[in-house]
Formats: sequence, structure tokens, C-alpha cells
Amino acid sequence: MTRPVRVRFAPSPTGKLHIGGARPALFNWAYARRHGGVFLLRIEDTDPERSTKEYELAILDGLRWLGIHWQEGPDVGGPHAPYHQSQRIERHKQRARELSAMGRAYPCFCSRERLEELAQRQEAAKERQGYDGLCRRLDSQTVAQRVAAGEPHTLRFAVPAGATEFHDHIRGPMRFENHEVEDWVMVRSDGNPTYNFVVVCDDIDMQISLIMRGEEHLINTPKQVLLYHAFGAALPEFAHLPLMLGTDKKKLSKRTGDTSLQDYRDKGFPPEAVVNFLCLQGWALSGSQEIFSVEELVANFEIKDVNKAGAVFDIEKFLWMAGEYIRRDSVERVAERCAPHVVRAGLMSAEDLAGRADWFRSVVSHEKERIRTYGELPARIEYLFVADEKLVYGEDAEKNARRHANRLTTLSAFRAWLELQLAAGGDAAALREGAKQFQTEQKLKTPELLQPLRCALSGHASGPDTFEVILLLGAQRTLRRLELAQERLA
Ligand code: GLU
Repeated sequence: MTRPVRVRFAPSPTGKLHIGGARPALFNWAYARRHGGVFLLRIEDTDPERSTKEYELAILDGLRWLGIHWQEGPDVGGPHAPYHQSQRIERHKQRARELSAMGRAYPCFCSRERLEELAQRQEAAKERQGYDGLCRRLDSQTVAQRVAAGEPHTLRFAVPAGATEFHDHIRGPMRFENHEVEDWVMVRSDGNPTYNFVVVCDDIDMQISLIMRGEEHLINTPKQVLLYHAFGAALPEFAHLPLMLGTDKKKLSKRTGDTSLQDYRDKGFPPEAVVNFLCLQGWALSGSQEIFSVEELVANFEIKDVNKAGAVFDIEKFLWMAGEYIRRDSVERVAERCAPHVVRAGLMSAEDLAGRADWFRSVVSHEKERIRTYGELPARIEYLFVADEKLVYGEDAEKNARRHANRLTTLSAFRAWLELQLAAGGDAAALREGAKQFQTEQKLKTPELLQPLRCALSGHASGPDTFEVILLLGAQRTLRRLELAQERLA
């Protein structure tokens, strides 16, 4: 009997959503859409000290930014509400009592000291670590008396003998000996249930059919599978996604791009590129196609195609892909998305941008092919905003300009010529044509004119067409910069 497809993303709001943490969200969402199922969001906020509302909102915001939407969740509700794990605690406690009544869990009175001593003894003897089952052997009368007397205790799961199997869609058939799983703590002595217990309670109640999550949870799966069996609940399917590794094939580090989704957003990565790139982490569309849309992901996503080996997170490739998305996008949208970065860099105010929208679009159209993220734009166009006297000449730009002995006379003659041209009006193409004629008349090679000019106007060795730059700067500033260059390049 096949179950309706119901998958979930269950983040703990104890920090920013990690770039790698967004991947299970994306794959679960794509899977649900591919199979016409439900994707739900559950906030696992049971650690009151580390969970914050801010992190929770940021996670929701980040997912929405990627275009991931959930049919059930803390903000939209649903048939299995509440979707905050912390609000389900009474249900968890009730489920713990059920297991105790079935004899599948037992109170453990062992003190912290005894457990520490046990761990040390096991370590010294090089034995397997884990609880030795002392309290499991207590008779029921003693247990009842000690509980009634209010003696502090935890509740441990009584792991049965035998072996357990489950199937992982990525790793294949899995099997473990039950004796390798200790009688783990389900409920702490303060009455709070632990992660492995509540996650199973909620996944059963929310009728989750497939659990797809990061490989770091694989060590928890045996405990959880045993719990499904104890409850007599249908086992969901499992899929553990491979870790994301840095280009050095080691665990992702700060240097190799290990940071939050929010950081990539702040840097100005297009969300479509983030989705595309995350998909390539362990999964690929047939053949070698690298750029594909969310719709293509949804139409083609199969868990069996997810790679077992770790996925390599190549930040350079990520940047290339981001640039590719920007190049393929419309000027209007790129301008819209660049705008907040320009405001944040202090180059223009929001009002400025609104008042000079055409001008700004024109600026963006000339940089669109070169930037890889929206956040790269401000540094590239800063020259348009600095005071003419403060324009910084880049080392390369200045070197190129100084290569030409005739640079000062060229600049001076060109300035005089340009002043007349600008007064007459005309677009960049007309200026370019006119300048060719000027060049011929003055017997100049193209670099002899353009290199000093480029340095004078933008201070950059490369960038948009010089005649476009002239129009972006406007007549007054262009002429002033040419004048200043005659002193500065002397
Ligand atoms: N709350 C867990 C985490 O953020 C996820 C639990 C799960 O997916 O089973 O790591």
C-alpha cells in the first residue's frame, strides 16, 4: 500500500540557516511537488536556551527567498497543528507514558556520577560506550516505590534484542544489531523529552512518508526506527543526503564557503542561482546540463539519482553560476535587485534611484555582463559617484595611460573636440564615430586615445565602453575629469 507523499523540513531555530541546510529543504520541496504531495515545515524549537524567534523568522524568510513554499507550517497552520515542536510537548509526554505502559520504556534512577563512572570504566576497558541497563533490571515494585517517593529519574527506551533493518534511498539497505544501540534517554529528569523521541512522535502524528535529511542524522536513525516499531507505526522511507565538502574534499569550512544562506543573500547571489547550485550538490540533471530552472528540477527530481559520495561545494563555480544568471536576466530585474546594494553602499539613496531610474538602468546594462553578484556592482560603479578630484586611478589604468608619451596633448585636444560634440548632443554611437574621425585627423592609434581617456574618466583599466561612460557621467563631469587628468597624468 503506498502512502500519500508527505515530507517535511524540520529546522531547529538555533542559528542562521546554513547554506548546506537549505538543501534538504529544497529537495524535500521538489520531491513533494514532483509527486503531488505535501511539503510541511516544522520548527524544532525544543531547546529554549538556543532557539529564538529571530532565527525562526530568518529561516522562513530565507526559504521564501529561494521560492520554497510549504502547505503546512507554523505560519500557515494545517491539519496537524501546532507546527512548533515546543507546543506539542503534552502530546510527547503522553506518548512517553504509552510506551512506559507497554513496557517499552523504563525509569532510570542512575545518578550523573554513576553514569560518568560507567563511561570512564568502559573507556578504560575499551568497551563499547553506553548505558549498562542497571535500572532495566529493577523489579516493578521497587520502581513504583521509588517513583512514588519522587526520586529523580529519566525515562529510557528499552531496546529489544535482535537486529533491525531499514532502507535508505541513497545508501541502500541498512542493517544494525540492536545491541549496538544503548537504552537511550527518551525523557530527561526535568520531564523534557529528547530529540530522537519527539522527532519520531511528530513524524508519526504528521504522517510523514519519507524522511529526507542530512547524513549527519544517520547515527540517530537506528534509535528512531526502533521507536517506530515500538509504537507499531508504519516506518517512513529514509534518504540521507551526502555531506557537502569543500574543494579540498574536507568538511566545509569558513574558507571553502561554509556560511549561512543569509550571507549569500547579502552578497547578492540571485536566489535562482542558489537553488540551481544547491541542486547540483549531490544531484544532477541528465547529462552535463548545469544551468536549469526550478521547474526542470521539479520535473526531474529522483532521489535515486542523488549521489552517495560527498558533494563538492565549489565557491568559484557558484560565483560563475550566479554571474550566468545575471547575464541571462533582464536589465530591469537586475537593476531592481542591484538597487538595495547600491543604497547600502551609500552611492545613491532610494529617492535618488527612483528619480534617476532610467539612468541607473543604463548603468546596470553596461555592467550586467561583468558582475557575478548584485553585490559586486557598487565597487564597479563607484567611480560615477566620487567627486571628480577624488577619482582613484587604478594601477593598471594609470600604467596604460602613461605608456603613451603624447597623452597630455591627446587629452587636451580631445577635450576641446568633445566639448563641441557634447554641446551638439548625440548618442554614444555618434560620439564613437566622431572620435574615429578625430583619431584619424590626429594620427592616433586607438590605445593612444582610449587608454588615457579610460583612466581619466573611470580610473579603471576595463569596463563599459568609454563613450557610454561619457554619457553616464554627463558633459560637465566628463570635461572636468579630462582637465584634471592633464595634471594628474603629467
Ligand atoms: N531539527 C533537526 C535539525 O535541525 C532535524 C531533524 C530531522 O530532520 O530529523 O538538525
